[in-house]
Amino acid sequence: MKTLVLGIIGLVLVSSTFILKESNNQPARSQISKIQQNKKDAVVYICKGPKSYAYHSRSRCSGLNNCSTEIYEVNESEALSMRRTACQKCH
Ligand SMILES: [Zn+2]
Repeated sequence: MKTLVLGIIGLVLVSSTFILKESNNQPARSQISKIQQNKKDAVVYICKGPKSYAYHSRSRCSGLNNCSTEIYEVNESEALSMRRTACQKCH
């Protein structure tokens, strides 16, 4: 069991070193993907009421005032996959 755990730790270390090496070789490319990643993972706020169609950058947006359910915090990519569009008031 101990050997297995050590083996997994070793594998993780090796793969993270490899990823680090990869990004050092291609600084420009990794920077772009990092920006896209950040944008994709932005936290947005949605209401799950039947009339809700937008996602919000602020939980206190006036567009959420009439929300009949709780306000949920999700990633922007999740909101997009729920066919939500960016709120005109806070984006
Ligand atoms: Zn809004």
